[in-house]
Amino acid sequence: MENKPNLLVRGTAAGGQIMFFSLDSTQLVEEARIKHNLSPLSTVVLGRLLTAAALAGQELKGEKDVLTMILKGTGPAGTVLVTSDSQSRVKGYIDNIDLETVSREDGHFDVAWAVGPEDGYLTVIRDLGLKEPYVGRTELISGEIAEDLAYYYAVSQQTPSVVSLGVLIDTDGSVKHAGGFMLQLLPNTSEEVIDALEPLVGGFPPVTYLLEQGFNAAELMDLLLNRLGFEITTETTAQYYCDCSKERMERKLMTIGKADLQSIVDDDQDGVELVCNFCNTKYNITKDDIGKMIEE
Ligand SMILES: [Zn+2]
Repeated sequence: MENKPNLLVRGTAAGGQIMFFSLDSTQLVEEARIKHNLSPLSTVVLGRLLTAAALAGQELKGEKDVLTMILKGTGPAGTVLVTSDSQSRVKGYIDNIDLETVSREDGHFDVAWAVGPEDGYLTVIRDLGLKEPYVGRTELISGEIAEDLAYYYAVSQQTPSVVSLGVLIDTDGSVKHAGGFMLQLLPNTSEEVIDALEPLVGGFPPVTYLLEQGFNAAELMDLLLNRLGFEITTETTAQYYCDCSKERMERKLMTIGKADLQSIVDDDQDGVELVCNFCNTKYNITKDDIGKMIEE
């Protein structure tokens, strides 16, 4: 299999007892870094959550289904919010785009410091087009994001999972490698399979290390699961994608109410500039535009 950018594969292992998703998100995380002008540690935090959302997005079925993950700890990163659709088209933002580099003793970036797991929560919202979205929330147990997501799946979804996420920053601040995988054990998974899986997962190198060695998303799963027997069922690509438009921004502006819109027109201003949170595209809403909105 060639190494396509943002390659995402899914499949099953151990005769269907394990479901897996694996992604090389290098390109989409780099795109997020550029769009938001992120510092290295801010890139790692947002990049891990974007990778997680792209993997989890594969569980959505409907074309209009949307999954939102909100990571809110008490560290300097602030709120980190990402969304994915069923095609793993993701977008997101982090409050603090300029986190200083703080490293752990082992030299890795200190993501847990940035997130601050104390009194923090991971909220996952699945909007499946029903009357109410499905909302699940669990406390943060590590702040490293992968462990927090695995805990969410275990507690909120009753699905034992293994999650690995990684973002490696190059010396120039760009994204060298990013990726992750998720394994989900189905309810019928035998003790035998669980016992066989544990040492494989426990001794598995970090995803970014393997990407650097030239393994692609499919080969990662081969390396991890070939002893259990595995099959790739879907091969696709994730992407960073924002669907904002001037019309959408106008609709958002309308929610401030007629009186406030009128006051913008009355004050001798050139209108307003709105910036998309997800991609930083700037939209100029002129006084004429606002006048039309008031008429409507
Ligand atoms: Zn946008």
